[in-house]
Amino acid sequence: MAAYDDKNIFAKILRGELPAYKVYEDDKSYAFLDIMPRAHGHTLVIPKAPARNILDCPPEYLAHVIQVAQKIAKAQKIAFGASGVTVQQFNERSGGQVVFHLHFHIIPRHDGVALKAPASVQEKAEVLGANAEKLRNALAGK
Ligand code: AMP
Repeated sequence: MAAYDDKNIFAKILRGELPAYKVYEDDKSYAFLDIMPRAHGHTLVIPKAPARNILDCPPEYLAHVIQVAQKIAKAQKIAFGASGVTVQQFNERSGGQVVFHLHFHIIPRHDGVALKAPASVQEKAEVLGANAEKLRNALAGK
């Protein structure tokens, strides 16, 4: 497996070199909206560790990010009235991974609504901003 490359997009977001629609952050993790969402509120949860994917992630970070994924999933049900949540995670190019910093996709679902194709449509900034705010409010219990 290739070594972690800190020039990937998500590493730049973690360092504040690129903008992101942040919804949650703590000492070990960061969560932000996918800018090409498969559904409204599609969120990515990443560890603050230089992990390429689950194959090299320190176990304590892996355990933490799945707990944050659960927190986000619960907030999505409130913020978007979701009746279900899909969690996806890809490892290496053959496993469908495109960005090589470990991330979990947390996607709100509604009965009978299909997911958009991956990375197919860039969402408008105002929609992403509003959705991030809804999710932050739900996380804060507002
Ligand atoms: P994958 O590695 O296959 O899980 O796909 C990477 C995901 O990152 C895709 O869903 C993209 O829409 C998303 N993505 C790419 N660039 C950004 C960005 N700058 N901010 C948020 N999401 C992004």
